[in-house]
Amino acid sequence: MMVENRIVQWIRPEVQRLSAYLVADAENLIKLDAMENPYTWSPELIEAWLERLREVSVNRYPDPEARRLKAHLRRYMAVPKDMELILGNGSDELIQMVLLAVAKPGRTVVAPEPTFVMYRQIAAMLGLEYQGVPLRTDFSLDLPAMLRVIQEQEPAVIFIAYPNNPTGNLFPVEEVQAIIEAAPGLVVVDEAYMVFAGKTFMPQLGDYEQLLVMRTLSKIGLAGLRLGMLAGNPAWIKALEKVRLPYNINQLTQVSAEFVLEQPGELDEQAKLICNDRARLQKALEQLPGIEVYPSNANFILFRVPPHQADAICAKIKAQGVLLKNLSGQGGALSDCLRVTVGTTEENHAFLEALKAVLYEQL
Ligand SMILES: *Cc1c(COP(=O)(O)O)cnc(C)c1O
Repeated sequence: MMVENRIVQWIRPEVQRLSAYLVADAENLIKLDAMENPYTWSPELIEAWLERLREVSVNRYPDPEARRLKAHLRRYMAVPKDMELILGNGSDELIQMVLLAVAKPGRTVVAPEPTFVMYRQIAAMLGLEYQGVPLRTDFSLDLPAMLRVIQEQEPAVIFIAYPNNPTGNLFPVEEVQAIIEAAPGLVVVDEAYMVFAGKTFMPQLGDYEQLLVMRTLSKIGLAGLRLGMLAGNPAWIKALEKVRLPYNINQLTQVSAEFVLEQPGELDEQAKLICNDRARLQKALEQLPGIEVYPSNANFILFRVPPHQADAICAKIKAQGVLLKNLSGQGGALSDCLRVTVGTTEENHAFLEALKAVLYEQL
């Protein structure tokens, strides 16, 4: 029991109160829970990549500035010339850097709710206040409520996931602009799903000194590399660089991401395929009895099942070999909601067959 006492004495209370981010075990399951790109690479691309990796000197530290990689990212993501970039070990780490840089007791982080859970989780571990502003029941933005909270709380940081996770929708540009204009501190527009949405605030960076645009390679097909980027006014980036650990982007990630960004054709094709399959999956879901489907601009679809059945339906689908994300436990607007990532055409089919079997069994 000694060790328990030391933990209670020394680990900060806000950390003790947290629960670690749980990732479901997906062994032998069709993995439609985490917005990964389901496609692998062509044998030619894999061979060329392995050739490139031969040149890596793992005995050396990586370039702490990742200069070559940043040049590729600038081009691929059309970062305006006068804006600067900072890279993170996934955008999760960038969220952490932003909040670490502003963290001070009494300061507040604001985001529409429900949204990406890491904003709240990281704010909590750093002792920041977090205020979620509920979306309307159709998951549209409640702009008056957002503006009221911004005025009352004067948040240090506002996060807007664009499109939003887990709801899948894009908020109207004018409403996001109104939030940016009202913000006393920073606004991070999180564009993790940009390739599936085709909409971005990147060109507007020059219009708003308080705006940062965040991207990641995870949902495009490189989740295993862990690479996110934040673009914005060089003065912000310079301030954030002070909390970045020097070698946070490892050598294999730098070289691999450079390689892919030199020839992004295959990944771009995969994204197109995923968007087409998203439309088909959406239509198929809409035809199922008792299912309410929310339109998506991302590579996943949120849907609502009949009341109090989400846990059972999710478990039965899992028993048939398909892993979904059950959001029902978060309660509120997400009660009875499940989220499915758009997989390969075959995976989507397997999911639909499993869902149908469960629904018709219950009728
Ligand atoms: C998945 C996701 C991220 C996390 O991306 P990583 O780069 O893999 O850390 C960030 N924001 C949103 C909205 C996401 O859905």
